[in-house]
Amino acid sequence: MLVYHLPGTFETREDHLDLLWEAGATGLEERAGLIRAYFDEETELPPLIRDGEWRQEADQDWLAEFKANLRPVQAGRVTIVPPWLRAEIPAGQVGLVIEPGMAFGTGHHATTRMAVEALSDLKLDGQTILDVGTGSGVLAIAGALLGAEYALGVDIDPITIPIAEENARDNAVPEGRTAFMVGTLGDDLPGDVVADGVFDVLVANLYAELHDLLVGAYVGHLRPGGPLILTGILTGKLPLVQGALDREGFTDVQVRTDGEWALVTARA
Ligand code: SAM
Repeated sequence: MLVYHLPGTFETREDHLDLLWEAGATGLEERAGLIRAYFDEETELPPLIRDGEWRQEADQDWLAEFKANLRPVQAGRVTIVPPWLRAEIPAGQVGLVIEPGMAFGTGHHATTRMAVEALSDLKLDGQTILDVGTGSGVLAIAGALLGAEYALGVDIDPITIPIAEENARDNAVPEGRTAFMVGTLGDDLPGDVVADGVFDVLVANLYAELHDLLVGAYVGHLRPGGPLILTGILTGKLPLVQGALDREGFTDVQVRTDGEWALVTARA
């Protein structure tokens, strides 16, 4: 891997970044006071950026590095780990194993962690949960492990469904306690467990604009008084979601934040 090390940062060398791209850089990265520009071959560079140095570096296995750096994530009563860190689940915590892969939801994103935390604040024994935008299935599986009788995860991306099913198997969720299907609200949901499509709890990690569009449908899928957990919301977009919840008559609206991300809970 050929890397050109240019002293400075993206900020101090803002005017020179275009020169790197024009010279054929395939990627730029800033690390420890250096701009690292990736090239396929050594090239003659314009004078303004000749104060750097060409380096041949060993290829990096990004995936292996990402996996090696994963740590357990504690979210309320639940600790989320990749399969190789099962032994690090603390005694007394509910262990949730998620294989990091193609579907969103390893637990390392603030929104997933806050949603698992919000689920773990509830008494879920015997409850039914609808998880809209299930991704890796992490929230539906967390719900089942926390005692829910049935958690249905829906996602518009078909790639997520076998991944979520496999994650449920890896967590030894008893047959029938979770189900996953391609789809979204407004589609026919399987009626074998929740015949009327009305659930005790609804959780959705999507984004503010979509919550605004779907909030009317949330009402139709949540029993009166049932908890609604919404995340994927940038704090700057909170008024949009709060306005939508007011419009549909949700009560007890509460917000928690982590950095730029927010989670909103409310009651139908
Ligand atoms: N639930 C997981 C979590 O909390 O980590 C994954 C959340 S990920 C941010 C959002 C997921 O929602 C993606 O898998 C995406 O395919 C799905 N999605 C996006 N729009 C959707 C919609 N209208 N209906 C259902 N799923 C949707």
